[in-house]
Amino acid sequence: MNYDLHCHSTASDGTLSPAAMVERAVERGVDVLALTDHDTTAGIAEARIAAEANGLELRAGVEISVTWHGHTIHVLALNVDPDAAELAQGLAKIRETRDWRAEEMGRRLENQGIEGAYAEAQSLASGGLIARTHYGRLLIKRGLADSIGGAIKKYLRRGKPAFVGVEWASLEDMINWTTAAGGVAVIAHPARYKMTATKLRLLVEDFKQLGGKGLEVVSGSHNPTEVRMMADIVRRHGLYGSRGSDYHGPENRWIELGRMVALPDDCPPIWQCWH
Ligand code: AMP
Ligand code: MN
Ligand code: MN
Ligand code: MN
Repeated sequence: MNYDLHCHSTASDGTLSPAAMVERAVERGVDVLALTDHDTTAGIAEARIAAEANGLELRAGVEISVTWHGHTIHVLALNVDPDAAELAQGLAKIRETRDWRAEEMGRRLENQGIEGAYAEAQSLASGGLIARTHYGRLLIKRGLADSIGGAIKKYLRRGKPAFVGVEWASLEDMINWTTAAGGVAVIAHPARYKMTATKLRLLVEDFKQLGGKGLEVVSGSHNPTEVRMMADIVRRHGLYGSRGSDYHGPENRWIELGRMVALPDDCPPIWQCWH
């Protein structure tokens, strides 16, 4: 079975609609897909209808922005009831922070001479949630960067002119909302945080103690060494491993739905938690 438990639609910073994402997943041989937009479950209803029509097993998910000891961490809530009240309220609060941050990033870009930045980001996000990805696309369009990563490096990360630091959800709240919604919490792309081994161990210990269940071992942004490292951590801490592409749309030709290596054999798969 081909599991892809991490992807983004136009409900957050992806470029395919939830229905188009489901259709593409079926074409690419995915059997089980989790739609995990940033801080919103707004795409789930549409994805469910498409999944039913196409015979795909869809799991509702969301990639939640978390602040842990000053680090921004992304944690997936997988197999949740998207209508669960605590989760819905928690996400609504994060989106308020996001909206404020998006306006502030726009103001700062405008101070850098990038006129109408906020209005254009709103239009690139089709009135939905704004992520740095949308500002990245705007900066590429204006010829000021040649990739989203490049745009973030130049303008939008810590120490750069349009970086806006915010306090996202706490790890404890995030795990509690997820558990109350019947789901499991999984740390997304753990190698991306560039933490020392000690820092990562402290994060994993905190996470497990608070009720977190898994680590994304196979990710579109992990190399083979990182896959091995994360599988070892999963085994040592008695956690589960997850597999997800972090697909955002066809513009990024390096990442495709369902086309990652298999979860290593010594890693108990996170989907055991819902079977
Ligand atoms: P935000 O949650 O608003 O801070 O935006 C984070 C999003 O920006 C991530 O989910 C990615 O989609 C995108 N992003 C961050 N860093 C990079 C990068 N180096 N290359 C491409 N996209 C990136
Ligand atoms: Mn993203
Ligand atoms: Mn992420
Ligand atoms: Mn993601």
